[in-house]
Amino acid sequence: MDAAKYIWMNGEFKAWNDAQTHVLSHTLHYGNGVIEGTKAYKTEKGYAIFRLNDHTKRLIESAKMTLMKIPYSVEELNKVQVELLRKNEFTGDNVYLRPFAFLGYGVMGIYHKNAPVETVIAAWEWGAYLGEEGMRKGIKLKIVSMTRPANTSNMGKAKATANYLNSQMAKYEAIDCGYDEALLLDDQGYVAEASGASFFMIVDGELITPPSDNALVSITQKTVIEMAEKMGIKVTRRRITREEVYIADEAFLTGTAAEITPVAIVDAREIGSGSRGPITEKIQSAYFDIVFGRNKEYEHYLTYID
Ligand code: PMP
Repeated sequence: MDAAKYIWMNGEFKAWNDAQTHVLSHTLHYGNGVIEGTKAYKTEKGYAIFRLNDHTKRLIESAKMTLMKIPYSVEELNKVQVELLRKNEFTGDNVYLRPFAFLGYGVMGIYHKNAPVETVIAAWEWGAYLGEEGMRKGIKLKIVSMTRPANTSNMGKAKATANYLNSQMAKYEAIDCGYDEALLLDDQGYVAEASGASFFMIVDGELITPPSDNALVSITQKTVIEMAEKMGIKVTRRRITREEVYIADEAFLTGTAAEITPVAIVDAREIGSGSRGPITEKIQSAYFDIVFGRNKEYEHYLTYID
C-alpha cells in the first residue's frame, strides 16, 4: 500500500509509522471492530469526500450494533476526516479513507465491556479496486461455496471486521479458481452481495438489485438507484436467483471502492456480450461525473476540502 504522512488516532494526528497498537489488543483475538470505507475525489475545486456524513453515521451505527461505544460524534469524526485530507497533502486522483474503531489492550476473555475503544482514521491513495482493465472490460465473477451467514447468527448490517472473514474466504476461493471476485448467495440461495460490493443486473432495460436482507446497507447502491431513476431507468429491488444472473443482459458491482465495476463473466457464462454493457457504461460514467463534482444536481453529497 502507499503510505501517507499522518494517521489520526484517539484525538491526535500521528506520523504514519507511529500509529501502533499492542499485540494483545482485544480485537486481534476476538474480532470485534468496525470499519468504514469512504472515498474522496480530486474535483476542479480540490478534494471532495463523497457522502461523508452517511459513511460516518454508518460507522457509529455499526459500533452500536456490536456493543462498542465510540467516544466521538459524527460531526467530530467528519471534521477529522477533512483535516486528515488537508494535512496529508495528497496529489492523486482519489483518496480512500478508512475510519475504524477497535478494542485495545487491557482485557482478555470474550466479555468485552471493559476493553478500551480505540478510534482511528487513516487515508491513502488507492487505485481501481478491481483493476483498470476490469473497469473497462468487466470482471470475472464466481458464485462461491461460502454463503453469507444467516441473519440469525451474525450482524451482517454492521460493517464489522468479523464479517470480513466470510468475505475473505469467498474472495480467496474465487481468485484461486481464476476469477476476480466472489458473489455470495444467502442461506436461502438468493444473491446477497459480492465480497465487498453490491450486485446489480439489467434485464430488458430494467435494473434489478437485491434488497439488503442479507447484505450491508450500501451507500453506493442507494446512489445508483437514485441516479438510475433520475435517468429514467426502471429499478426493482427483489430477490435474484443464480439462473437469472447467468442469462442477464448486463451485470455490474457497486461499492465505494469498487465504484461501478462491469461484470463480464459469471461461472463460465458470458453476461450479455461478455464485456461492459451499454447501460452499465452510462451508469459508470454518470457516477464518475457525480463523484468528481461535474454534476451540480448531486453537489450536496460532496464535502469539499479547501
Ligand atoms: N457489501 C460489502 C460486504 C462491502 O464491504 C461493501 C463496501 N463497503 C459494500 C457492500 C458496498 O457498500 P458501500 O457502497 O457503502 O461502499
